[in-house]
Amino acid sequence: MARIARYYREYGLRIVKGLLQYVWDDGGRRYLDCNTNHGVAFLGHANPKIVEAVRRQLEEVWAVPLNFSTPARERFIEEFSRLLPAKFGVVFLQNTGTEAVETAVKIAKKITRRHTIVAFTNSFHGRTMGSLSITWNERYRKAFEPLYPHVRFGKFNVPTEVDKLVQEDTCCVVVEPIQGEGGVNPATPEFLKALREETQRKGALFIIDEVQTGFGRTGAVWAFQKYGVEPDIFTAGKAVAGGLPIGLAVAREDFGDVFEPGEHGSTFAGNAVVMAAAAAASRLLREEDVPAKAERAGAELAKALGEVESRLAVRVKGMGLMLGLELRVKADQFLQPLLERGVLGLTAGVNTLRFLPPYMITREDIELVHAAVSEALK
Ligand code: PMP
Repeated sequence: MARIARYYREYGLRIVKGLLQYVWDDGGRRYLDCNTNHGVAFLGHANPKIVEAVRRQLEEVWAVPLNFSTPARERFIEEFSRLLPAKFGVVFLQNTGTEAVETAVKIAKKITRRHTIVAFTNSFHGRTMGSLSITWNERYRKAFEPLYPHVRFGKFNVPTEVDKLVQEDTCCVVVEPIQGEGGVNPATPEFLKALREETQRKGALFIIDEVQTGFGRTGAVWAFQKYGVEPDIFTAGKAVAGGLPIGLAVAREDFGDVFEPGEHGSTFAGNAVVMAAAAAASRLLREEDVPAKAERAGAELAKALGEVESRLAVRVKGMGLMLGLELRVKADQFLQPLLERGVLGLTAGVNTLRFLPPYMITREDIELVHAAVSEALK
């Protein structure tokens, strides 16, 4: 029998069931899921409203190429449009976050006819060759260099350098509003504003990567709305299809015809089952006012993490339900102790424990996180 290639740390946990904010292992033990597959299960595991939509679609049709339309895709665009600020009139369908980023950059290259991409220290945009080229961490990229050569890295959150960084050759600037993998580092409002103004001035496009921050997690549907800054293109992924694979590049309406047939595409893009799930997820996000719930629960969770008494804890970072607890030491050594106490977490950067729970996390769940983190850090 073949085996699955190994390039992830393994924790010896075999998950057999998930429901809302919890998962269960093969011994029947329950865990609070603050990992959520890197933020994917933000609407909970097997959310009944999404399950119902998927179940119905499963009996109808699954695989339909973008050459043909489906009711599932029509429902998706109708529901998803309601989550978009007026400026954004076109959605490019993909399957993953990294493809969403690749798509956004391809749009920018074709529109501007320039090729230099500006990205930032501690950025993460994916692991295919294009998105890896604008991912900063050496650990992810070193073995695969040379990558796309026309990339200029600037310092994240240093608005005074933006003027020098964005030049006449710049096709686009790509930035995360809150760096996820890089350490749960929120951008400052001054930094995002400087990027918006400078790209406009120099004729470059401004791309905000919302793959991790987007779809309600930070307390707004899109994190850039919290900053009052609008990009030309933004990306989304992870939570948008309730747990099924999706990636989106969302742009100004007039960018919708940028590609000629053949210049872009993806076999699985727009798959009807994924579209049914994403339509149901988008509807649920709006009807249950998920961003507001994430904001409230996030404030409680941030408070609980701030009350962890440990000489190892430095500070709480993030927004809404995208939170990090910065430590004085490496964070990965605490994931197993947390798991043993019934909480699945993540790390970010080197020293940060990261929590990306589903929006329906309760006060009791938050007390569990507080107790588990306090004990693990003892
Ligand atoms: N952009 C950001 C900001 C991300 O956090 C991630 C995934 N962690 C990606 C892109 C890549 O997404 P995917 O793994 O779905 O390709």
